[in-house]
Parts: sequence; C-alpha cells; structure tokens
Amino acid sequence: MRDPDRYADFDALVDERLSRWTDELAQYCRFGSEETDPEALRGAADWTAERLRALGADVRIVELPGEADVPPLVVGEIGNGPRTVNLVQHYDVQPSVPLELWTAPPYEPEVRDGRLYARGATDNKGELLPRIWAVEAYLAAIGELPCRVRFLVEGEEESGSAHLDALLDQDPALRRADAALIEGGGLTVDDEPEIAAGGRGIIVLRLVARTIAYDAHSSLAVVLPNAAVRLAQALATMWTADGLPAVDGLDVGVRPPTASQLEVVGAAPLKRLDDIRKEWQVTTFVGGRDGRDAIRAMTFSPTLNVQGLWSGFIGEGDKTITPAEANARLDIRIVPDQDPDAVIDAVRRHVAEHGFGDVEVVPEEAERAWWTPPDHPLLDAAARASEAVVNKPTIRQVSMAGTVPMYQVCAAGRVPATTLGAGRDDCHAHAPDENVRIDDLATATHIAARFLDEFAALEAVPPVA
Ligand SMILES: [Zn+2]
Repeated sequence: MRDPDRYADFDALVDERLSRWTDELAQYCRFGSEETDPEALRGAADWTAERLRALGADVRIVELPGEADVPPLVVGEIGNGPRTVNLVQHYDVQPSVPLELWTAPPYEPEVRDGRLYARGATDNKGELLPRIWAVEAYLAAIGELPCRVRFLVEGEEESGSAHLDALLDQDPALRRADAALIEGGGLTVDDEPEIAAGGRGIIVLRLVARTIAYDAHSSLAVVLPNAAVRLAQALATMWTADGLPAVDGLDVGVRPPTASQLEVVGAAPLKRLDDIRKEWQVTTFVGGRDGRDAIRAMTFSPTLNVQGLWSGFIGEGDKTITPAEANARLDIRIVPDQDPDAVIDAVRRHVAEHGFGDVEVVPEEAERAWWTPPDHPLLDAAARASEAVVNKPTIRQVSMAGTVPMYQVCAAGRVPATTLGAGRDDCHAHAPDENVRIDDLATATHIAARFLDEFAALEAVPPVA
C-alpha cells in the first residue's frame, strides 16, 4: 500500500500551477495545425519540441529523408526507471469547419463557464499537456520518475497516420517499450473512469460515379445518365432499409471475441446508450439496435459510414446541370484481425455484383486495430490510478469506438496499451465548440502521475499474446 501522503505536495503543486498551465494550453491551441496548413503544423511541432525540452526531456525531431512535406514525429524521452512507457500523442487537429457553428473562432481560445474552448482543447493538445504536467510536477514534488517515459507526438493522426510506420522505422528503439498509453482517456458524465484496451482500425475510401464526359445542360437529362443518381443507387444497395450495413464480407477476418472480452462487454453499463440518445437527440438506433446487443455491436461490429457526399452544383441559387461526376467518402471502422485490403475487396465485390462495376472504389486511408486483453495488468494499473483520483469504480472497454494509431506503435513488439485520462463525451471532439473542462485538466494530471507509480510497481507487464 502506497503512502497516502505521497501525492500531497504533488496535488498542491497541480492546484498552484493549473491556471498557468491552462494559459499554456490556450497558447498551444492557437496553432491551427490542420492537415492543410503546413506552416501551423510546423509551428505546433516546434512548440511541442520546445515544451518537452523545457520539461527536461531528450528531444528529437524525426523526419523522413527527402519528404519535407511529411509532418515530423516529435520524440521526447525522460526518466531512467527499468520500464518504458510510450505515450502516443499528436499535435495535428481536425478541420475546424464549419466555422459559423463555433461560438468563438476555433484558434482564438476562450474560457467560458470553467471550460477552455478551442480546436484541440481536448483532442489532443489538452490530453498531451496534462501528461507533460504530470511529469513536471512529479519531478518537482516527488522526485525521480519511476519509469522511462517516451512521448511520441505525431502530426498526421487526424488524417490517418500515413507516415507513422515509416517515421518509427527510422529508429527501431522507438517501438521498444513495455507498455503504451493511447492518446487520451475518458470519464463518464458521472465521473466514472472509462479505460479502453485499444482502438478500432479504419478504412477511408471514396466511391466515384462518372456517367458522362462533362456536366451537361439539364434539359439533356431525358437522355443522359446523371452521376449523382447513379451513385445514390449504388449507395442504396450497401445498407438495409433500416440502416444496417448490407455489404457481404464487411466482417472478413473478424476475430471471435474471447471470454474476457465478452465478460467486459457483458458488464458494460447500458446507461451509456441513454447518454448517447440524449446527447445526439435520437430515440432509436439504426436497425432498432438496443441494450446489450447495441453494446456488443459497438465493440465487435465493423461500421459502414458515409462521411460526405458531393456532386453537381451546391452553391447558392441554382444551376441547371446534369452532373458528370459524383463522390461519396465512406469510412469503415474495423476490428482485430481485419486486413484493410480484404475489406476493401469486399466493398469492390459488392459494388460490382450489384451491377455498379462502373462505380470506382478509391482507397484513401487504412489503419489496423490493436487490442490488449481487457484483463491485462496494465489496465489494472490504469484503473487503480484513475480510481485513486476520482473515487469511482472503473468501467472497462474492450476497445474505444474511435481509431488510434496503436497498431503501428505496438504490434511489432506485442506491446500492451490502454487509455488514461479525463476526456468526456460532451467535449465536442472533432466538432464545433470543442472544449475541455479546466478541472478535468487537473484530474488528468493527477491520474497520469499516479499511473507512472502503478505501472512501475506492476509485478509483470506481459506482451500481448
Ligand atoms: Zn486525437
């Protein structure tokens, strides 16, 4: 049993520094580090490196030779304990459009009602900084770190981490670790910690229908095929009438759930479904899913989602054309051990077999899933650290619903991974008015410090079988 006073000075220091740290997060969030803004990405990368240097970390900026356009991987290592934990983070952010839905501009951070509002306030700048603050305050108030901490901060997470493997390949030592922390972690609206043992993979692809050589005067619609109609017809074959995926082979390669995974899913509180219904103001889920069945599907079923659709004229006023081309961007969240190529093949086969061989399937992004067994001791450490701070029992999850680049970091060494932190469903991650509760920044900092001790004290941290 750990000395209960061990964290007294640490906790006092967090209180004392929280307002300065919040300002620091606001400063970090001023970089509009979206995929399309190389200058802001570079600014955010440099800021990250500088911040890790100020922490006392050995900092390296890893780049791909001859590929100056690829945002660098910022690496910061600190501590000399016998075990190493990789902290997998990112300095890029999701696009902030549509700007008109923000109460204040996304890159002019603002504090309102105890929350900091800005793109990146939670995802991921507001999840990275509390981990840095935890190390800073640990060193100041407790002493030497009990383990080695390696920050891996990339700049392409929100667009699929396309170069993360190649960046990590620059130095094989970067993947060498006993454990990894996923970029953030959550608390429910009732302050219960949620610990997830992994994340889903993702495939992003585009369906393109081209019907005529170029946009035509719409009076010719009596004889010319319309690309938007063609695409809509192809899409209509891919879901059942009540919204469930209807693509044969979408689940190719899905590994059957283990007993420990089923146990975790069986114990998951159904209240989460009510939270989702309330937050997004729906009464029924697709396919009439509900209860335990919905929870199981959220964990083990691949998704099939339309991200966006575009064709023809969508400006103000009207323009009487018959469009020549129509596009739909789809994403598919996959689970272990699905191979993205096999899933993409299934979509191609579906489209062709339904008479839409002319509709092109263009893969744009693919990442595999990486799950750690939910009863792994690393998750026990994360749960104990969280419970010590929020005094509520932990809810475990086999996987978070979203995608994180853990396969790239962990699979080669079978490194176990877990989430850890204090993000919430209502923080509007990826949406307008993204925000973080300032008291949650402190909570995440408290949890991260305790995790370092819990991790270092584990009897064993076995690799994933
Ligand atoms: Zn993120």
